[in-house]
Amino acid sequence: MLTVLDKTPAQLAEAVVARGWPPYRTDQIIDWVYRKGVADPAGMRNLPREITGELQVLTARLAARADSADGTVKLLLEFPDAQAVECVLIPTGDRHTACLSTQAGCGMGCRFCASGLGGLQRNLTAGEILEQMLALRQAVPGRISNVVFMGSGEPLANYEATLEAVRAIVDPGRLGLSARSVTISTVGIPAAIRRLAREGLAVTLAISLHAPNDALRRTLLPSAANTTIAEILAAAKEFFHARKREVTLEYVLLAGVNDSALCADGLAGLAGRLRCNVNLIGYNEVEDMAYRAPTPTGLKAFAQRLTDRGVNVHVRHSRGADTHAACGQLRGSVARSP
Ligand code: SF4
Repeated sequence: MLTVLDKTPAQLAEAVVARGWPPYRTDQIIDWVYRKGVADPAGMRNLPREITGELQVLTARLAARADSADGTVKLLLEFPDAQAVECVLIPTGDRHTACLSTQAGCGMGCRFCASGLGGLQRNLTAGEILEQMLALRQAVPGRISNVVFMGSGEPLANYEATLEAVRAIVDPGRLGLSARSVTISTVGIPAAIRRLAREGLAVTLAISLHAPNDALRRTLLPSAANTTIAEILAAAKEFFHARKREVTLEYVLLAGVNDSALCADGLAGLAGRLRCNVNLIGYNEVEDMAYRAPTPTGLKAFAQRLTDRGVNVHVRHSRGADTHAACGQLRGSVARSP
């Protein structure tokens, strides 16, 4: 079989020629898969059966689908080796944002996250990351306008595959999204952030900060044991200077943990060190985890304190909370069901 999504256009062209097919078939295959979003080779009408019979686009089966009242659709895709990942489509006005996973499971172990519970299972390939885009397009017809790498996994810990997927997403000849509409979210790996700054891709960088000081951050993010916030912000500054893109600091507000006035002041101090926006996200409670969501008043007060100190704050609301939309929850609930 010729698998399509795990190949760059040059690799696909090579594979087409190696099979003795005319070179122009490469563009036809790319057109069907990426531009028209056709995943079933039988539907590629201008290709002979000799070719369609050899093509494989999707490798995963749809193991579960959850539709939320707010329009959010979450899919659980299971690959042939039984590893499963989630991807989500979030409609907001005329935006359709795809939230993609880069690893099955996650090795970062953030204490409040369902995806980290079972540890890292394995990295996804670039093709498996792109497959999520196609599966979402099949499930919800329409154009995907934005992509966020905020599903399971740490994108910069699976650097090559994530970047290969990003290149396909922003390639005008393939998915053709603007780099600015792609957000890579990371717990903060300074060397990888610096490498990303040199890629020549004007993507948005989001750093999961979640705490205003190293001591508190290390209790929430064990992976931060050997990294300081100062090192992460220095790398983020380099990214800003290289790409001229404001960085986003993500801060999940956990009631009684990181939501004090002192924490807000500390966060405002950090935000003042670089050109950034702060995304404040009220925690989406996960079954069997001790962390609690802030009250709407608590969330508002924290945001206001940041605003009063000159920080550009956006309060993000959990979407699809009624369909296990918090990271890893659909996978968890399927694994638990009899
Ligand atoms: S929050 Fe992100 S980085 Fe942390 S464990 Fe969950 S998936 Fe991994």
